[in-house]
Amino acid sequence: RALPADPRSDNSRRQVHQACYSRVRPVQVREPRLVAVSREAAALLDLTENDCRCERFLQVFAGNSLLAGMDPHALCYGGHQFGNWARQLGDGRAINLGEVVNRRGEHWTLQLKGAGPTPYSRNADGLAVLRSSLREFLCSEAMFHLGVPTTRALSLILTGESVLRDMFYDGNPALEPGAVICRLAPSFLRFGNYELLAARGETALLRQLVDFTLRTFFPHLGDPGPAAYGRWFAEICRTTAELMVHWLRVGFVHGVMNTDNMSILGLTIDYGPYGWLEDYDPTWTPNTTDAMGRRYCYGRQPQIAHWNLAQLATALSPLIGETEPLEEALRDYAHHFEQGWQTMMARKLGLRAFEPHSDRPLVEELLRLLPEVETDMTLFFRRLAMVPSGCAEDRVQPLRDAFYRPEQLTEPYRQRLHGWIERYRQRLQRDNLPDAERCRRMNAVNPKYVLRNYLAQLAIDKIMEGEYSLVEEMLEVLRHPYDEQPGREWFAEKRPEWARHRPGCSMLSCSS
Ligand code: AMP
Ligand code: MG
Ligand code: MG
Repeated sequence: RALPADPRSDNSRRQVHQACYSRVRPVQVREPRLVAVSREAAALLDLTENDCRCERFLQVFAGNSLLAGMDPHALCYGGHQFGNWARQLGDGRAINLGEVVNRRGEHWTLQLKGAGPTPYSRNADGLAVLRSSLREFLCSEAMFHLGVPTTRALSLILTGESVLRDMFYDGNPALEPGAVICRLAPSFLRFGNYELLAARGETALLRQLVDFTLRTFFPHLGDPGPAAYGRWFAEICRTTAELMVHWLRVGFVHGVMNTDNMSILGLTIDYGPYGWLEDYDPTWTPNTTDAMGRRYCYGRQPQIAHWNLAQLATALSPLIGETEPLEEALRDYAHHFEQGWQTMMARKLGLRAFEPHSDRPLVEELLRLLPEVETDMTLFFRRLAMVPSGCAEDRVQPLRDAFYRPEQLTEPYRQRLHGWIERYRQRLQRDNLPDAERCRRMNAVNPKYVLRNYLAQLAIDKIMEGEYSLVEEMLEVLRHPYDEQPGREWFAEKRPEWARHRPGCSMLSCSS
């Protein structure tokens, strides 16, 4: 079963200098089994779902065999982790198989995650376990259907191998089922690819990589050179700002916003200990490693993105010579984010446009009220669409099932909430949109179905029992996150009480 030896590939762990990637071989696995495929991702490769259910597909996307023209390699990058320069990191368990040009002329890089060690694996095994792979698989596709820029997931395959993990820090390492997913993106380049070359003073190679990046992914910015580099950085600032607005809109918390997890295409990348806000709490992070500092909590994501962009700016500055264009782009980031956030909040509330004078205090008051009692963010905005703009007896009634603890709805709190709804209704009356139209607009930006943390865990539990149909069903539900889906309502309900403290249902470690 061994692949023909390629004398150019070398998976041994090492520091790799003067190179952007290393040729490697995926590890052979014993008994691959397909758990799930995304037909939308398959279509990007001009494949049908059926095409993905053959033996050949299984062997290739488990890492056991290569197709003609594939040239597996791992990228070399560095990164700032939790604010500190971490030097060489690289694709420690990701292997790019190559690139497909589809019928529409789009380029898609195929990347296996969990296919064995590479030069960048440091002291880890290069493998991935089912729970983290399933979480990445489902969430990538869920984000796509939500309209959030993201890397995609084609397939989830159990390898038939066991992987040792120190699960949930209970002190007992456990064997877990190994898995490989195939991710797709136009490019997996990260801020860290450029940072590492800059940090090592490999400036000629840095310029070569930047020029390649511009020619390949940003041809509209013109010929590579200092001016185009500045325009490129400004575009990364813009797309990153847009990404942050999306994350805030849907309640996504990445959890590990290190610069090696920041895509130069403004995509959500590297789904690890991510999570979805259930009760609206801007200080919440799903990452147990970050529980103290909360560096990467929901509400700080836009500032962290800005900090990360500043690190990229530092890396690019040797190529540009002057810092003004970079500084200007960083200032514009704040502007783009603010504009995007205002438009997004107006849409979430069903307003025709954000009128700063009246709407800023309205939104600020709402965002003060929401975390005071445990309020499900997703349900709250769906229910808010049902609050009539005209007179109503009990204005809190339509919102009732968004609250986790009814006993927290004290009389003073109810009064403030009433007061807010009253101001909101007056604002709606000024807009004069019919309620049905407002509801339609709000439901198009406020998802009903998100991958609640406990739902992913339920799917994992089922696969462990050999039952794959829940994954299929979740994929189906998450295809239409903004639609009403009669019969599937339970997927939209708030987190059940049993999941509050269950491992895997809320906080997660990086051990995956
Ligand atoms: P992350 O922050 O999880 O995206 O990963 C940080 C670094 O650790 C990257 O260089 C990863 O490739 C590497 N890494 C994470 N998990 C593993 C693993 N199981 N084996 C090898 N490298 C890993
Ligand atoms: Mg990463
Ligand atoms: Mg990871």
